[in-house]
Amino acid sequence: MYVDTHCHLTPSFYKDKVFEVAKRAYDENVKLIITIGTNLIDSVECIEISKKLNYVYAAIGIHPHDTKNINGFDDILKLMKLAKDNKKVVAIGEIGLDFFKNYSPQDVQERYFRMQINAARELNLPIIIHDREAHDEVYKILKEEKAYEVGGVFHCYSGDYDFAKKIFDLNFLVSFPGTITFKKNKEKAESLIKKIPLDKILTETDAPFLTPEPFRGKQNEPMHVKYVAKKIAEIKKLDEIEVCKKIIENVKSLFGFEGKLNID
Ligand SMILES: [Zn+2]
Ligand SMILES: [Zn+2]
Repeated sequence: MYVDTHCHLTPSFYKDKVFEVAKRAYDENVKLIITIGTNLIDSVECIEISKKLNYVYAAIGIHPHDTKNINGFDDILKLMKLAKDNKKVVAIGEIGLDFFKNYSPQDVQERYFRMQINAARELNLPIIIHDREAHDEVYKILKEEKAYEVGGVFHCYSGDYDFAKKIFDLNFLVSFPGTITFKKNKEKAESLIKKIPLDKILTETDAPFLTPEPFRGKQNEPMHVKYVAKKIAEIKKLDEIEVCKKIIENVKSLFGFEGKLNID
């Protein structure tokens, strides 16, 4: 049984194929999917899909790229209302900093990152972090805004082992996508995953992006999360079923508070 804790399963990416894609994943034993919002409109789409499929949950938030379009604190209040009104919202995300693309000014990214951390704390929801080339800044803000009170996960983890240890102390986990199957990442992924304890790891696809081997070149789908789990098992020389069980436990303890997830 697999879990995809981070994908973008919305009509913006899959047009009228959303339910087909979801079903394909379910039929391939992906028994839990979290679809991730990147702005207010997209977050509403995620919620709508989560309401229609019992194995799909939603995270809602404003991605650093989209912070330049935020309409002040009003939009944060709207986000909070959406989270309060919808039981299947299990996290605030994806939020964070992207100093690689810099599609939004850095000070704007930081301001709304802080506001959304505080929203998550008020809602008592974990946080899904997008951190690209901004490790130190993200870490500093998480600490200052007391994000450890709710915890969360760094999705598409791109830091090293030393940084991972620091974020574990802040009550955060790391999540790996299909890029760990890429040949060019072999050494880096192997040495990192070998060292990271299994109880700190989640699996994701970030679909429709980051298609794993052997499907590179095609649009990614949540069903491909199994290649991530297989790769982790292979690197750690563990039984794949054991790895999947442990990852489900991790997912339950992070997102499954108050019986939010129906997964056994
Ligand atoms: Zn991201
Ligand atoms: Zn994403």
